[in-house]
Amino acid sequence: MHSLRKIRAFFIFIVLVPSVFIIVYQFLSLAEHKNLIEDTYREQLKTILYSVNQNTRNIIESWIALYRRSVTIAGRQSAEEVQKAIDDFLTIDSEIVAVIRFDRNLDYFEFNRKEATHIDRDFIFQQLKNENIKASLRKLAQLHEKQFLTFEPVYVAGDSAHESLIFILFTREMPKGAPDYAGFILPANAVIENMLAPEMRRVAGSDFVLTCFQSEDSRPVYSTDDQLSNVFDLTNKLWIMPGFQLGIRLEIAELPGLLREQFQRTVWFLAFLSSILVVAAFLIYRTIRKEIYLAQLKSDFISNVSHELKTPLALIRMFAETLELGRLQDEKQKQEYYEIIGHETERLSHKVNNILNFSRMEAEKKTYSFQRIDLNEIITKLIHNYAYHIENNGFKLEKDIAPAPLIMHGDSDALIEAFINVVDNAMKYSKEEKFLRISTSQREKHIIVTIEDHGIGIHKEHQKRIFEKFYRVSGALIHETKGSGLGLSLVQHIIDAHKGFIEVKSEPAKGTIFRFIFPVAD
Ligand code: ADP
Repeated sequence: MHSLRKIRAFFIFIVLVPSVFIIVYQFLSLAEHKNLIEDTYREQLKTILYSVNQNTRNIIESWIALYRRSVTIAGRQSAEEVQKAIDDFLTIDSEIVAVIRFDRNLDYFEFNRKEATHIDRDFIFQQLKNENIKASLRKLAQLHEKQFLTFEPVYVAGDSAHESLIFILFTREMPKGAPDYAGFILPANAVIENMLAPEMRRVAGSDFVLTCFQSEDSRPVYSTDDQLSNVFDLTNKLWIMPGFQLGIRLEIAELPGLLREQFQRTVWFLAFLSSILVVAAFLIYRTIRKEIYLAQLKSDFISNVSHELKTPLALIRMFAETLELGRLQDEKQKQEYYEIIGHETERLSHKVNNILNFSRMEAEKKTYSFQRIDLNEIITKLIHNYAYHIENNGFKLEKDIAPAPLIMHGDSDALIEAFINVVDNAMKYSKEEKFLRISTSQREKHIIVTIEDHGIGIHKEHQKRIFEKFYRVSGALIHETKGSGLGLSLVQHIIDAHKGFIEVKSEPAKGTIFRFIFPVAD
């Protein structure tokens, strides 16, 4: 159907194409979102790691500022005053256990330590010859020349006799005669426990795990989590302890995992949405297709019915006109014409009845008046009334009526209506061999009526559907024979009301047998 194809195209372009476009767009932007979230997350991790470094840097900067204010300025005066200022400096609450002051070539080396510590002066002095420290000192000197006052942390691994230490080295303002460098000595353990750990715990909160580990072998030295693990989302150098790193990861689950889950959920949701869309589109399409089909049926019905009524009307008119003109002298012929008019009128009223009955049936207003009846009588009457019409149309009529009455509960008018429809069909759908056989019989508690023709037959796939209203088999005879497609649906309704069954046995090009089976009346 042309309009159906149009609707299909309309659906595809107006509904499906934009929906598919939106869904694909959603998929693509989902991936983009994922990247954006991942980037934001990495930025957040970076900031957290940066804040730990910045915090220790700030603390150390404040110590150096204090030292410079009290000691370097004091250093312009006597040696005793310097000593006194350093001793005072060492009493501040810090992790610094010793202060050293020394010259570039180590001719001058002065060592002051906090009371109650066992830092070994010689060990410290030896360390200053260490290549690591020398490199840091050279760098500091260069920066100092550019008027850039900064400081360098150096990690000194301990041995069996000494604990690991951190040297914070910086240049002094170097008035004439003053030593070139100064440095704070801090035990690595104290730095981790008192400076790093509290800050790491603060920034980690309950969402992240922060771990400080050795760069060389990834060995963790402190973690905010009880389980020391070295799986991280991001790592960064730990400024105050060269050779160590900070690692961070999300506590609850890996972010990529969370993202994947969310991604999958969204994908499922979109898939669900699209299937609903497809189902909805299909349902709407089906409804429209049905509506169009019904509209088509309606218009076919009207044209079929008008054609069906036209033929008997034309006949009646023709014979009536002939009679009216008074040209016929032969009484026998006149009689024959009257009979034809009578039969055709009957056929016409049968057709009109069919339509009226159908509309009653549709409105569920069709009523039956049941009585005890003899089905043999009904069939005999039908044959008597129809024999002329049947034989006149070139049909060979065979009848086989059961000898005994066939008593059942039924509505004779309705049953006659039903059988006429079937007989009519047998005549309409026979082409070459014009044969009709009507028989009645009783088998135990059942009364059986068969109406057989040798016509065009009905293909198996249509045999069930011919009882649907308006249904007509599209075949060779459909255009030649007029029909409304109502006959058999009416037959079905009548037989159902009689608690009967219909069996169809048919083979294309061979013929059809309709069997009607009714219960016998008690
Ligand atoms: P219609 O008004 O078209 O005859 P019916 O409901 O009486 O409508 O029949 C439905 C269809 O079943 C017919 O269009 C025809 O194709 C098919 N049919 C009915 N009876 C016969 C038959 N005896 N032989 C072949 N086809 C038949």
